[in-house]
Amino acid sequence: MSDRHDVVVVGAGILGLATARELLQRRPGLDLVVLEKEAEVGRHQTGHNSGVIHTGIYYTPGSLKARLCRAGSQMMTEFCQDHRIPVDRCGKLLVATEASELPRLEDLMRRGTANGVPELTWLPPDGIKDLEPHATGLRAIHSPHTAIVDFSAVTQALSKDVQRLGGTLLTGAPVRSLRREHGAWLVQTGQEPLRPHALITCAGLWSDELARMTGEPANPRIIPFRGDYLRLKPSSRRLVNGLIYPVPDPSLPFLGVHTTKRIDGDVWLGPNAVFAFSRAGYRFSSVNLRELGASLAWPGFWRMARRYLGTSVGEMYRDLNRGAFVQALRCYLPELGADDVVAGPSGVRAQAVARDGTLVDDFVFSGGDGILHVRNAPSPGATSSLAIAREIVDRFERSRAT
Ligand SMILES: Cc1cc2nc3c(=O)[nH]c(=O)nc-3n(C[C@H](O)[C@H](O)[C@H](O)COP(=O)(O)OP(=O)(O)OC[C@H]3O[C@@H](n4cnc5c(N)ncnc54)[C@H](O)[C@@H]3O)c2cc1C
Repeated sequence: MSDRHDVVVVGAGILGLATARELLQRRPGLDLVVLEKEAEVGRHQTGHNSGVIHTGIYYTPGSLKARLCRAGSQMMTEFCQDHRIPVDRCGKLLVATEASELPRLEDLMRRGTANGVPELTWLPPDGIKDLEPHATGLRAIHSPHTAIVDFSAVTQALSKDVQRLGGTLLTGAPVRSLRREHGAWLVQTGQEPLRPHALITCAGLWSDELARMTGEPANPRIIPFRGDYLRLKPSSRRLVNGLIYPVPDPSLPFLGVHTTKRIDGDVWLGPNAVFAFSRAGYRFSSVNLRELGASLAWPGFWRMARRYLGTSVGEMYRDLNRGAFVQALRCYLPELGADDVVAGPSGVRAQAVARDGTLVDDFVFSGGDGILHVRNAPSPGATSSLAIAREIVDRFERSRAT
């Protein structure tokens, strides 16, 4: 293989592969290589998420998240139809269990409506019981178009498309340095260097490190937040028909512990959100001293920690105490007991945190001539991936044209 290429995409998660596919569809014959540090595609956030195709209720109207989630959910559903990937439009309930949550629920209904989410309806307590007989609440929003899918299957299909369209996928190829040299990029992976004209990085949990290799500012820094799930025992799956979400804390970009029906019939409960001691920290005991040091050295980490001290301690306590985790779910699922659940999987969110301690909410892209970095693509990043890919390639082509 020659070391000269038109484009290198770093990261074979759902975003990197969707972006590579979009580029190859627009520019047939493009010489494109995707570099992935792991042995397989989709090993990090893409392979460890709730599997929900969100409709766009939560996001600030006019934000990238609002626009790209609406477009992306439609594109994702069509992609799955075309590639024969099962999608279950099981719908979702957003349930308020305390009077103090009702104004926030009304605000979410206004947001969802402004974002163009179809067929949102109000449900009274009886209406909640009609859809979820074991759930309880004062009032709920029903979103009938929310669906579930296996995003790993989507990623496999994207990977096949990329290779069918002529792209090259190199796994086990961790990018160690990126440098501009003689009008091209010099990409070092520990094997033969690559010299592409243009570079796009979609590196998820390591996106800030890739950006800094090309001289981008350190702000924002990725702070990893693990999300642990419990699973319902098969005998207790009768407690849940589909997706039940609480009213989220408006100051946090997380949706709160919810019930998630999986496409294979399993039911997961979670995820919570606890600070992880490593970017691939799928267990409490996973520690990477270099990455932990980088998180703790970031001034925004301490500002964030001070701001959310109570929430963080509560999340950590529930993480270590299964009874407390179950208790949080019993607010809207009162029959749930500790005997109904077993330990489940975990995911780690790449959450960008600004120097002032703000949890960056919207998707963030940066770059310049011949380079584009995705610096923040948290949930609903998987839902939105095909629309984000279109946005990335639009921005990338505009920057090349100027
Ligand atoms: C617990 C959890 C629940 C979620 N639930 C949902 C949901 O229900 N619906 C939804 O829409 N979204 C959800 N999300 C968000 C969604 O999973 C992400 O937005 C999406 O997967 C981001 O994709 P990505 O390709 O940017 O990142 P990733 O999947 O993390 O991929 C980045 C890739 O870059 C590679 N990489 C990094 N550094 C290098 C390097 N130096 N060299 C080469 N390769 C490198 C990594 O190995 C990785 O494969 C959830 C996320 C989590 C963690």
